[in-house]
Amino acid sequence: MNKPDQSVTPMMAQFLEIKEEYPSALLFYRMGDFYELFFDDAIAAAQALDITLTKRGKHQGADIPMCGVPVHAAEGYLLNLIRKGFRVAVCEQLENPKEAKKRGAKSVVKRGVVRLVTPGTLTEDTLLHPRESNFLASFIQVRSQGCLAWVDISTGDLRYSPCPPVRLGPELARLAPAEVLVAEGSVNETLEIISEAGAAATELPQEVFDSTAGVDRICKAYGVRDLSGLGEFGRADIAAISGLIEYLSTTQKGQLPLLRRPVYEARDDFVAIDAATRRNLELTQTLSGERSGSLLSVIDRSVTAAGARLLARRITTPSQRLATIEERASAVAFFGEQSGLRGAVRTTLKQLPDVERALGRVALDRSGPRDLRALGNGIAQATQVYALLQQHDLPPLLQNAAADLKGFEGLSDELDRAMVAEPPLLARDGGFVATGYSAELDETTALRDEARSVIAKMQAEYAGQSEISSLKIKHNNVLGYFIETTATHAQRMMAAPLSETFIHRQTTANAVRFTTVELGDLETKILNAAGRATGLELEIFAGLCAQVLDHAAALQALAVSIAEIDVAAALAELAMSKGWVRPILNDSRDFIIEQGRHPVVEAAIKAQATTVFVANDCHLTSNGDMVWLLTGPNMAGKSTFLRQNALIALLAQAGSFVPAARAEIGIVSQIFSRVGAADDLARGRSTFMVEMVETAAILNQADDRALVILDEIGRGTSTYDGLSIAWATLEHLHDVNRCRALFATHYHELTQLTAKLRHVDNATVTVREYQGDVVFLHEVKKGAADRSYGVQVAKLAGLPQSVLERAKVVLDALERGEREGHSKQKALIDDLPLFSSVAMSAPAPSTQSELEKAFEAIKPDSLSAKQALDLVYDLKSKL
Ligand code: ADP
Ligand code: MG
Repeated sequence: MNKPDQSVTPMMAQFLEIKEEYPSALLFYRMGDFYELFFDDAIAAAQALDITLTKRGKHQGADIPMCGVPVHAAEGYLLNLIRKGFRVAVCEQLENPKEAKKRGAKSVVKRGVVRLVTPGTLTEDTLLHPRESNFLASFIQVRSQGCLAWVDISTGDLRYSPCPPVRLGPELARLAPAEVLVAEGSVNETLEIISEAGAAATELPQEVFDSTAGVDRICKAYGVRDLSGLGEFGRADIAAISGLIEYLSTTQKGQLPLLRRPVYEARDDFVAIDAATRRNLELTQTLSGERSGSLLSVIDRSVTAAGARLLARRITTPSQRLATIEERASAVAFFGEQSGLRGAVRTTLKQLPDVERALGRVALDRSGPRDLRALGNGIAQATQVYALLQQHDLPPLLQNAAADLKGFEGLSDELDRAMVAEPPLLARDGGFVATGYSAELDETTALRDEARSVIAKMQAEYAGQSEISSLKIKHNNVLGYFIETTATHAQRMMAAPLSETFIHRQTTANAVRFTTVELGDLETKILNAAGRATGLELEIFAGLCAQVLDHAAALQALAVSIAEIDVAAALAELAMSKGWVRPILNDSRDFIIEQGRHPVVEAAIKAQATTVFVANDCHLTSNGDMVWLLTGPNMAGKSTFLRQNALIALLAQAGSFVPAARAEIGIVSQIFSRVGAADDLARGRSTFMVEMVETAAILNQADDRALVILDEIGRGTSTYDGLSIAWATLEHLHDVNRCRALFATHYHELTQLTAKLRHVDNATVTVREYQGDVVFLHEVKKGAADRSYGVQVAKLAGLPQSVLERAKVVLDALERGEREGHSKQKALIDDLPLFSSVAMSAPAPSTQSELEKAFEAIKPDSLSAKQALDLVYDLKSKL
């Protein structure tokens, strides 16, 4: 884009000047009721939004491409653009045209960017998913140290965690941020990891992450003199957090959101779960990327948006701290027992608006009357929840949470008195202050409304005076109030004596418009009153916002506590409705599950109502079996069993009850889940390579508290390669990692290993053969599978009979060969009739009908016209 020059209009000069500051964003340039886009911005936006591209004026001799979106519908377009990866600079008119005119006839209205909208900095309810957090993250590496900091600007929740580059992938998979800030010149690898996590990478100049300037920046943002008041920070931590703050201040034009004190997340406070495991266990979305069908979607019973966001965090970030887990589980247990209270609390919570986000908008000066109303209602509901809870002897977590819900009487009364029940969206529209709140406002509005009834009276008077009953007083934005008659009556109005009163203003195609001195005076009065009323309302609005912000910290605590209570009650509701139990957690290395179930598969089976889910035990102990080697035919339920145990561990440490009759779990530090390549087609890389890279990661990382599930590892390559890799992997897990593991395999040869590896035992998912068919019992038992039933499973899948017969012959020969000590190939060549009659039997000829035979005999090229006609008669008769 070029610098402004002499030939451009003043407005275009202004546009170009502003645009120059935001080269990487689309500039939404406010013109009256539209945001207009020009030049390349217009071309890009028109295409992305599928709106018409027009042109307006010329720049350096060429047409200026333009498109626009109406202001009232702008949010939808914004969302669309942000989703498509654009950033948008919103440029508003900072004065009205009248003010501009005062400065000189040719002045352009002053404009400025009020906000840069990026994926990580959204606050509008319409742009955000209510039940999901929207994180802006910042990653920095200072020498060998790294830090990842992240903030949800709609709630002000800010956290940071040490993050060496190798942890970036897993951390981004855990948090799923919308946008990640990095320093310019970051290595490509970092950018790739970010894009693989589905986030937008935003590169900022190195200075933004300067840790010396960062200290000041953080202190200023939190209004503290010394950083030590906020916690302990390394250099990388300061750099990452200050990067966040600087970016927020740029995008929000100096206005910072209500940041909560930075929370440090120590790595070993939480269960480590890498990206592949998360995907594989389908925690928050399924392998195909949908929310429905994920673990979260099946267990989420929360009734508030903040509760849903907290539950998602619990599931994605389970704890490793026994005390924390116990505290949470006790809260769930309490609500489990108190079903009456639980119901009452949940009913009250259900009506609670999103206090966290409404407060966030107030802080950013982006709120409307509805946000204040929401806060008022929120406080009132919270007070009710408090009243319900305080009648009980609460466990510590709930006791603390309840304490945050009270003490807002003053603010609540004020908001309640001030606001009408259903206020409009925008403060500038007025009409949201309740009558009786401000005497001055009431007087002014009375005057305004009174004047309106005076107009009605005046209209009647003028109609009488002029004897024109159709005379009307109307209003539009150009003329203000005016008197309107039809052209036929106008003659009389313009002649004496009426012309003494009525002053002609305008003649249109089918009407003539007049005014009077009296009407002019009244109009001024109305305008003054209306303007004054709006002014007063805006003052009141600002005053209320200030009062709310005085309580900001307490309101944030209230919001957090509400979420805690909601999650505890929701998990209790889930546990009671599904018969889940409280797990026993300890610091052993046991993993004992009785009658465990897979929550998602069970729900799916229940929905189909065809079969029941078969519950299964799992028994791993540090002095007995640490590894179960699971064999069984395809479709028997091996994968389900593996995942259900990983999910039970995860749920337990998230503070939830678990789908089992009894569960005793020694704290798990890491959960790993891998699936052999054939199941993982969604990703582009060589699948076998992926499988091996991921298996390597487990063998290198799993400590003795890890829980590892390996599902048919080695499947992605030839039999002997795969078998050897699986074999060696199992040995490594047993000898080196010494962790708890479930290992499903179709290599029956591996079952022999139990003789050699002390802590490995065989288990199998049972099936029964019934009249040549296989029946899945889905029951996990100690011992090895006798055979794989592959042919029977293939039959279930509808393989043609001939192929099945042939497969049986091949299988028999192979098995016989093996028994008799030949190599497999030899067995095939020696014993197998290569062209078995069963396999090659041709399909029996189907019987042809008379009609078909007749058709077949026709030779069209040799028919005369007459013969053809005869043939038609002949065929018809046969039919
Ligand atoms: P495998 O990994 O052995 O091939 P899966 O675990 O994929 O088998 O299970 C196949 C299907 O069997 C599942 O989709 C589910 O419908 C059913 N299934 C698995 N486990 C159970 C169970 N414990 N009870 C009932 N049905 C089950
Ligand atoms: Mg499987």
